[in-house]
Amino acid sequence: MLQIKNLHASVEDKEILKGINLEVKAGEVHAIMGPNGAGKSTLSAVIAGNENFEVTEGEIILDGEDLADLAPEERAHKGVFLSFQYPVEIPGVSVTNFMKTAINESRKAKGLEDMPASEMLKLIKEKSELLEIDRKFLSRSLNEGFSGGEKKRNEIFQMAMLDPKIAILDETDSGLDIDALRIVANGVNKLKNENNAVIVITHYQRLLDYIVPDFVHVLHDGKIVKTGGKELALELEEKGYDWLK
Ligand code: ADP
Ligand code: MG
Ligand code: MG
Repeated sequence: MLQIKNLHASVEDKEILKGINLEVKAGEVHAIMGPNGAGKSTLSAVIAGNENFEVTEGEIILDGEDLADLAPEERAHKGVFLSFQYPVEIPGVSVTNFMKTAINESRKAKGLEDMPASEMLKLIKEKSELLEIDRKFLSRSLNEGFSGGEKKRNEIFQMAMLDPKIAILDETDSGLDIDALRIVANGVNKLKNENNAVIVITHYQRLLDYIVPDFVHVLHDGKIVKTGGKELALELEEKGYDWLK
């Protein structure tokens, strides 16, 4: 589904990603771990098409298509989802209305008409019930005064509604409490299936107590220095990262 080949990326002429190779198949969950500053967030930003980073070498291929020339929105429409794509507070625009707009924008990009209102309501009902999100939350203003857990709930709701092929969750927030981690983990576990894949980026082993990854990769200084199964996360918890440098 997703193939990353010899990916090099820079910001302001400083090379951050130094030859990343990664293959993610449908149905798989990959965890990317590594110390602060390793390049984890840069990798997720580059996959999503963030234009602050320059890809200097290598390829990112989704379902056989090279994403190089695609803008972030086009990548999103092709099924790439990055958490915190929409971190803005929008007073007066509810979680639901924001989502309706996002869905219809995505349909428009594919040449489709707006989703009929009844179908939209059904989709919202189905996804919010699956994720145990209550109606009150759906009518709140987007991100306005959201707690860490509510931000996560909103993110997972967006993921459920947009039904991406590949979801990248960059758990950058060191302040995430156990409830927020559970919201993310439960959401991922409910939403993953044989046709999608998830990349979870974290430097906390804790999250992987709830989301069981098929593969764990350690990123250090812009390169994947070790790959293993879920047991690697436990080993990292115990030994830290220094032995891999
Ligand atoms: P991680 O998510 O693994 O903690 P990042 O991808 O955030 O690491 O950062 C990797 C390196 O890239 C760090 O040295 C960071 O300072 C640098 N970096 C990231 N984004 C920028 C930017 N916009 N401008 C300059 N340097 C950046
Ligand atoms: Mg960091
Ligand atoms: Mg980061």
